[in-house]
Amino acid sequence: MAFIRCRQSARVEAGMAQYCPWCDQPFTPRGNGGRPQRYCSAGCRRALEQALRAWAARQLAEGHVTVAALQHARSAEPRNSHGRTQCPSDADL
Ligand SMILES: [Zn+2]
Repeated sequence: MAFIRCRQSARVEAGMAQYCPWCDQPFTPRGNGGRPQRYCSAGCRRALEQALRAWAARQLAEGHVTVAALQHARSAEPRNSHGRTQCPSDADL
């Protein structure tokens, strides 16, 4: 099983185009520094974030996760140099 790798990481390691985890289309990450670009577009990043929020809301509504668990997870997140929790929308695109 150790030889099985996901397609995306294999392609990235080979120095080929990166693939958007939302639409699975290849894209060339911007080369202007900053954080690594993970999605092909802001639209894909927003679509994924909206899907995550909807999924999380369902998990909470259905009792699969508690508010206390969310608060605990948030307090364990790394913080930026300003002492604030980093905004996910700033991190990925
Ligand atoms: Zn995309």
